[in-house]
Amino acid sequence: MAWEPETSPTDRRTVRLYNVWPSFPSISISGSSCGLGCGHCSGRFLSFMKDAEDPAGLRNLLITSDGGIREEARGALISGGYDSQGRLMNLDEFLPAVQELRESGLIIKLHTGFVDQATAARIADAVDIASMEMVSEITVIRHLYHLDATPETYLDTFRNLRDAGVSHIAPHICLGLPHSSEEYVEWCLEMLAEEIQPSTISFILFTPTEGTPSEGHNPPSPNLVEHAFARAKWTFPGVKTILGAVRPRGAAFESEPSKGGASDRRHEVEMAAIKGGADGIEVPARSTIGRLTARGHHLVRVDSFGVLPIELEGKVNVEEVH
Ligand code: SF4
Repeated sequence: MAWEPETSPTDRRTVRLYNVWPSFPSISISGSSCGLGCGHCSGRFLSFMKDAEDPAGLRNLLITSDGGIREEARGALISGGYDSQGRLMNLDEFLPAVQELRESGLIIKLHTGFVDQATAARIADAVDIASMEMVSEITVIRHLYHLDATPETYLDTFRNLRDAGVSHIAPHICLGLPHSSEEYVEWCLEMLAEEIQPSTISFILFTPTEGTPSEGHNPPSPNLVEHAFARAKWTFPGVKTILGAVRPRGAAFESEPSKGGASDRRHEVEMAAIKGGADGIEVPARSTIGRLTARGHHLVRVDSFGVLPIELEGKVNVEEVH
């Protein structure tokens, strides 16, 4: 069957509005250290996360001294810098504490980095959701991520997570990356589709970041965003797709004054995701919520990260908005 993009939806389908903070903090288990220095980040993303200096520090961020879960916490994203082989730094040391957090009732999502079969088996016991970026082009891997790896290396990690029985696998794909071609998204989706049944596919957007080698590269266009979601829906019917929180908001759009103000562009990108068929948006703009309300969508606010499986929504705050 030939692929064709969806037409603009005028249906009243459900859209989930994910409110990530404060119930699902992002925590770095490597502090501000990263051994990769990717061209679009240079380690700066880590500054938006809470630091866990050691496994005890990680527990203390989420659990009180008497073993209770800290007020507001429902789960966490555990991430950090990667080493020069693309592995999450300090993962071995922190995994027992991560498992303890999960056993205390918190919902845990882990950015795994590359993992072998043995580590994947330990991850399967320790987390609810394993998240990993899919990268389909060697130019991006070499020139942006500085890794001596191939797209197959990424797939190997997804296979290891699948074979280990990880409950939920949530690939994320970054749109608009420097060095990527027009086919980048399609290849990511096709490679995944041959091997993996994801619970959610999350799209994040390249964000020009001051002080990095890629600061002058433009963020992805609304057209690219719409196309990516439509393509994901076609490749993975029935799989939830979301627009992740990692995307330009404000200053990153200032270099494109001819295209309208920053908030207009943010709204435009979010609406493009919905037009492509997105099931949810992390931290949507108010203007987007207003527009979706006016269009009659069924809106549900979920206080969690967007990769939360629908069957786990009973563990978090969920509110009908419209
Ligand atoms: S591995 Fe992650 S934290 Fe390190 S530079 Fe790359 S994107 Fe940034």
